[in-house]
Amino acid sequence: MFTSPYPDVDIPDLSIFDYLFGEIEDTDLDRVAVVDGATGAATSYRTLIDQINRIAGALAARGVAPGTVVGLLCPNIPAFASVFHGILRAGGTVTTINSLYTPQEIQRQLEDSGAELLLTVSPLLGGARSAARSAGIDDERVIVLDGAAGHPSLADLLAQGADAPRVSFDPATHVAVLPYSSGTTGRPKGVRLSHRNLVANVQQARDLIGVVQDDRVLALLPFFHIYGMTVLLNLAFKQRAALVTMAKFDFAEFLRIIQDQRCSYVFIAPPIAVAIAKHPLVESYDLTSVHTVLSGAAPLSGELAAAVSTRLGCRVLQGYGMTEASPVSHLIPIDAPQLSRASVGVTVPNMQCRLVSTETGEEIPVPADGVSEPGELLVRGPNVMLGYLNNDDATLDTIDAEGFLHTGDIATVGAGGEVTIVDRSKELIKYKGYQIAPAELEALLLTHPHISDAAVIGVMDADGQEIPKAFVVVVAEASVHGDHVIAFVADRVAPHKKVRLVEFIDVIPKSSSGKILRKDLRVRHAEAAATA
Ligand code: AMP
Repeated sequence: MFTSPYPDVDIPDLSIFDYLFGEIEDTDLDRVAVVDGATGAATSYRTLIDQINRIAGALAARGVAPGTVVGLLCPNIPAFASVFHGILRAGGTVTTINSLYTPQEIQRQLEDSGAELLLTVSPLLGGARSAARSAGIDDERVIVLDGAAGHPSLADLLAQGADAPRVSFDPATHVAVLPYSSGTTGRPKGVRLSHRNLVANVQQARDLIGVVQDDRVLALLPFFHIYGMTVLLNLAFKQRAALVTMAKFDFAEFLRIIQDQRCSYVFIAPPIAVAIAKHPLVESYDLTSVHTVLSGAAPLSGELAAAVSTRLGCRVLQGYGMTEASPVSHLIPIDAPQLSRASVGVTVPNMQCRLVSTETGEEIPVPADGVSEPGELLVRGPNVMLGYLNNDDATLDTIDAEGFLHTGDIATVGAGGEVTIVDRSKELIKYKGYQIAPAELEALLLTHPHISDAAVIGVMDADGQEIPKAFVVVVAEASVHGDHVIAFVADRVAPHKKVRLVEFIDVIPKSSSGKILRKDLRVRHAEAAATA
């Protein structure tokens, strides 16, 4: 077992609202909390907290209380912050939904999570309303923040003038958020994260990440994903920094907002690092305000980190985690430039880790100096989820009897506890930092009348980006073209989940228990790529 090199931090027994805003200093109330990157409109902490309280009151009047699940389908606009914390303040549980989801994907998450209300914005209303209706949520309970006929709006909630309700719950067991993740296997599942999980992860990461109150933090990572939720909506607010929102990614707009808003701390995923390192547009903007870029959600190579650092003249850090760990478990701390940029740094405080052999399950020793053998990384700490929603089997498969979360990532550990992620043993595919669950695409492919079996794995494209590849068995006598399979999937899923390569195969290799032998498919793909 190895632990954090840092001493444990205190984790207050508070709700996320009380932790973030309960003891805010008077002098901080007039600081800027959120800036709309598109318009430059600013909201102070005073206004943010007032809105959170009024939204909590209005939602409570509509029946939101501990036990109520509320869907939130919204891009990164300033109102996201107020409604997210407003729902939590009322004691509700938020299930954040990817704003690019199709109506079917939205419906599935609403139904699976048991959501009783949906908050969204008018550009997403078409899909949102039909998904909500199919999930049994009537129009009165679909709140359209910017207004739409037949639906309550954010202005209606704020105008209600209701006080925040008094709610009482145990922060350690009350579920604050239900983001969806497929974990190590199967389809996306609701990840039950308590108030304590969220408070813990901010406490564990805040000193290491080093956002301070004078920072202007670019909020481009989606708030619906745990990475953006924790570092932006929770950690940046705890530090009294200003969030600068960006609703839709466009590289020129990204550069313009950094320049015009003098952003100083930028959280990214690796594809943005590629653009920063290579894109000619970078030269046209003044990006000297940036002192730190922190990349997470997928692997960032040491070379790419160095290229970003040289081009922007700033620090580049890397973090690692997963939804099930709220998410951060490893970080290159802001004051530790001696760590390799190819590593994900050291374990955050209050966590213990293990490396175990994927073949024998035996613990792999971590040498005092030198680098360990690779093994699956197991993590334990106060940020590890309560479990999956309505899926005890998946929970038991993921968190062992000693409380260790099995990450499905393969790591090595070097001197001083520096962790490097070297591979992934789980099925999960990550496209530009977004999750793709092979099981979900396989189930979809099997609904095609001419496909009798299918398996999906992640492969690397020419740019080093992981993409989903489908191996497809076609029913006898049918003729199906690869492009047709790609289009069939693309019509039915959010853009990041598209199948991007197809190979026809006679039989999908499977174990005697019927499990797809993904390893064999990876070898087959590598051999074909080598001879191509
Ligand atoms: P998610 O639950 O969507 O945050 O995905 C978690 C998974 O993303 C991890 O289990 C890893 O496979 C991958 N991941 C996240 N951060 C990194 C990183 N810095 N390096 C390599 N893989 C990462």
